[in-house]
Amino acid sequence: MAKRVTTTATAAAVDSAAGRPPGSQNREYVPLKVLPPACPRCEGTAFTPREQTVTRDISGEIDGRVYNRIVWAKACCEGCGQWVTFREYHLVGS
Ligand SMILES: [Zn+2]
Repeated sequence: MAKRVTTTATAAAVDSAAGRPPGSQNREYVPLKVLPPACPRCEGTAFTPREQTVTRDISGEIDGRVYNRIVWAKACCEGCGQWVTFREYHLVGS
């Protein structure tokens, strides 16, 4: 284990130290709502995915966002056994 080195901070060292300067405002954190996909039949959120997926380079627009690839993945709801298809859009520039 390395020896701990203790130093006394000088005024110049405090000014050039990384991090938030003393007395500055806290950063603003905007809350984002993230909801898991839910089964349309029982509203359960636990799925057992099939390993097989289908990927196609298809371009288009969804909700005003441009995508250039879609990935389809089938999964089975663990609550009621309903099979669902997840469609994942890969947005351009993200
Ligand atoms: Zn279900």
